Amino acid sequence: MTPDAGPPAGGRRRRGWAAGAGVVFAVAVVAVFLVVVGRGPQAPVSGECVAEPGAEQQDVDVDDSPEAAWEHEPGQEFTVYFATGGLPARYAGFVGQGAGLWSHSPCLQAVAVAECPEGERCSEVVAAESRRGRGGSTDGESQGRDRGGVRYGNTIRLYTDVLDRESDNGALATVVHEMGHALGLVHRNDRGSVMNAVTDDNTDPMPDAVDFANLTAIYGAPADSAVRP
Ligand SMILES: [Zn+2]
Repeated sequence: MTPDAGPPAGGRRRRGWAAGAGVVFAVAVVAVFLVVVGRGPQAPVSGECVAEPGAEQQDVDVDDSPEAAWEHEPGQEFTVYFATGGLPARYAGFVGQGAGLWSHSPCLQAVAVAECPEGERCSEVVAAESRRGRGGSTDGESQGRDRGGVRYGNTIRLYTDVLDRESDNGALATVVHEMGHALGLVHRNDRGSVMNAVTDDNTDPMPDAVDFANLTAIYGAPADSAVRP
């Protein structure tokens, strides 16, 4: 037995344990702090797929009926599907081409699929008979399903009896135009724009820089990129 060895040793051990626990506690606090900071504040950085406050669209026809923006997680890129399962092959092909064109937009991908994936953002694209006698040659329409100013669904109707008489260029321009509405764009004033209220066989079906800038005004853009090449 060594009377001097007990209490001091125990004391050191206890101090050792206490000091160790303090370090563990400090590490735990730092870890928790890092986890909290790492997840970050939920408010995303403006400009990273978040519309800049007050961002205005260019060249818009103020008389056109408004379109809503798709619900999406702020700061996240997102996909809008276009379901073409019931379409004749000619028009399913145009929707596929249109999806490729609109996907040049930052922050959103447009993807043509046969059926709307469950629970995803999706516009149906259906073939329909034109409503003759209503005084127009409307060859397509887009109708959003919106709630509280946010889009959760959409239907594009392609009046194929009219479109069948148009050139591939003209019909593609119509499809791209209606897909633009589905994504949240309104009509442009520029008569050469695919988003002008009137398109025809001579319309360039390619959305231009203003269209992509307008989508950026709605959905923002990644901080490190503009329009995808
Ligand atoms: Zn239109």
